[in-house]
Amino acid sequence: MEDKIKQEIIDIVFAEELATPEELETQYPARNLSGGAMVTRIAPSPTGFMHIGSLYSALISERFAHQSSGVFFVRIEDTDKKREVEGAVELISQSLKSFGIDYDEGRNENDEEVGQYGPYTQSHRSEIYKTFVKEFLQRDLAYLCFATSEELDEMRSIQQSQSVKPGYYGEWAKWRTKSSEEVLEMLKSGKAYVVRFKSPGDYAHRIKIHDEILGTRELPENDQDIVIMKSDKLPTYHFAHLIDDHLMRTTHVIRGDEWFPSLPIHVQLFESMGWEAPKFAHIAPIQKLEESSKRKLSKRKDPEANIAFFDEKGYPKEAIKEYLLNLANSNFEDWRKQNPEKDYREFQMSFEKLSNSSGALFDFNKLNDISKEVVSRMSAEEVYENVSTWAEHHNTEFANLLKQHSDYAKEIFTIERGVGDKSRKDIKMWSEVQSDIEYFFDDSFSLTKSETLEQLPNASADELSDIVKSFMESYNFDDSKEEWFAKVKVIAEAHGYSINSKEYKKNPESFKGNVADVAKIFRILLCNRTQTPDLHSIMKVMGQDRVFKRLSLIV
Ligand code: GLU
Repeated sequence: MEDKIKQEIIDIVFAEELATPEELETQYPARNLSGGAMVTRIAPSPTGFMHIGSLYSALISERFAHQSSGVFFVRIEDTDKKREVEGAVELISQSLKSFGIDYDEGRNENDEEVGQYGPYTQSHRSEIYKTFVKEFLQRDLAYLCFATSEELDEMRSIQQSQSVKPGYYGEWAKWRTKSSEEVLEMLKSGKAYVVRFKSPGDYAHRIKIHDEILGTRELPENDQDIVIMKSDKLPTYHFAHLIDDHLMRTTHVIRGDEWFPSLPIHVQLFESMGWEAPKFAHIAPIQKLEESSKRKLSKRKDPEANIAFFDEKGYPKEAIKEYLLNLANSNFEDWRKQNPEKDYREFQMSFEKLSNSSGALFDFNKLNDISKEVVSRMSAEEVYENVSTWAEHHNTEFANLLKQHSDYAKEIFTIERGVGDKSRKDIKMWSEVQSDIEYFFDDSFSLTKSETLEQLPNASADELSDIVKSFMESYNFDDSKEEWFAKVKVIAEAHGYSINSKEYKKNPESFKGNVADVAKIFRILLCNRTQTPDLHSIMKVMGQDRVFKRLSLIV
């Protein structure tokens, strides 16, 4: 009789035709992968915001999968319809694509599903979840709960006043022990309900759980009868995680450590179905130092929490990835030093090293240094392409200039580039390039005679004119750097400047200055700045006409 009523309840809850668990097991068979291959995933919610932490998890998960010849997939967790924002799913796929974090399965940037283990969007999987909620009910692993939110609030305040552990468990789990008749009656009267897991756990009992990053920890067993299906018949996160990571055959769940405390629930859910749980690896969040204490990067307070921030600044995607790899595995930096030419994908990521990054702090200085290194390894052509692409989206005026003078711009980017370790490390973000190089372009260069004299107070206008004239007379466009510098020295000496820094330091008063002061004259006249890249190269790139025109200002 009791069994009959139970069946009637289940048939009312799931009146529709559903696949059986066995059919789904057959539809999503074990993956045919070689030993050691990891199947990892990220499971973002479409909130319309791509957090740098999500990118960090994605990169780590992608690396573990692909370095082991496994599979990396993206699952969209959109069962919380209240939080969903338009365009948010596209933002996830486009961000991953633009960072070159390739996933094998999931919804691609053309909004198509790719892969045999889908759908990869939870809102399209509701039938699958129903099959298993039904199975839980059938196996007596779950029950219907009609507690209203007022009743739950009341329960909570009683628990608070009695200082007992909050939640729906033990004697507080009123609907766990209700008779089937009562449940059926409520169901027939159309009252809202949820389905809860019948936890077999005892909170006083401690269990050992292994985490790939945190090691083996002891935690109290779960005794909460958590909700597995909400009143809208969609699953909760915990239940969807169980079903999806089982059917999608995930081997390693790599996720933020805010989920670590839920592990006893998850382990218990897998055990209740007799399924092998995946391995878990909980990553510490990226943090920030605020007044000597660490806190999580906040979506609200920190612009750098949003990856769009780095896009606007024009940090190369490669630099961000290298920075994140460095945060994850501190030995990445040494590896990179030893292998400057290698693709970062050749680096072997390890969980062991990840455990040392428990307090990973976001550090702009470090990011900037890495970014400079990354850009210094690029060819002039690559720099040109990257700056142009960035400018097309963020600075059209500059994009047009680069397009119009593409050959000249590429020449500019060759200066002190392509000489290995000695390559100039000045560019860290594309947004700074315009002001870095604008003096090369006549339209954005202006300098008057009086401004020149003001910046060179140690020489008279006549002296400056003489020096510049001598230089122009001896200048030969084809001179090597050595020949060019030898000529500068001759002119310096002839005008009373020292060409020997030791001597100059000993007796500065016997000279007008040293050879660097002579170079400064050219720097000001050609670039209107005191610090520039190699002057000889600048002159070569500017070309004799432009150089002479600018120098003539003082002659
Ligand atoms: N949707 C969850 C989140 O965004 C996913 C956690 C997981 O990876 O399991 O935090």
